[in-house]
Amino acid sequence: SERDATEDTTADNGSETLFERIIAREIPADIVYETDTTIAFRDIKPQAATHVLVVPKTRYRNVAELAAADPRLLADVIATAGKVAELEGLGNGYRVVFNTGADAGQTVFHVHAHLLGGEQLGPFGR
Ligand code: ADP
Repeated sequence: SERDATEDTTADNGSETLFERIIAREIPADIVYETDTTIAFRDIKPQAATHVLVVPKTRYRNVAELAAADPRLLADVIATAGKVAELEGLGNGYRVVFNTGADAGQTVFHVHAHLLGGEQLGPFGR
């Protein structure tokens, strides 16, 4: 079920998510940084003064699947988050969050890092 964030994902590997459409420039987004393997754009419903999503261009359902399949690509995602933090002036600190599965509120099943900062954050975000 959707509640099991670790379950096999082959059943829906063919269905596009919103983020494939943003990567393909089929849906507009406020892109702040891009590399060969990652893209970073502003969250449409920001939860902090700065809220950017960092997305690997290859789709994995969640961060654990990404780490298992392509650790180098996970490193690229984190490096892009660090670069965006620098570009956004987050020298005073920031948070990187991977919501995984229904209980964490994950709604887009293409792994993405939430980069949050630009203000004092609460202990666990929202
Ligand atoms: P949640 O929706 O609970 O935050 P996710 O961790 O799956 O779950 O995050 C998906 C994020 O994508 C949300 O923060 C949402 O605001 C953002 N989002 C949805 N549509 C767009 C869009 N068109 N452009 C940018 N961000 C979007």
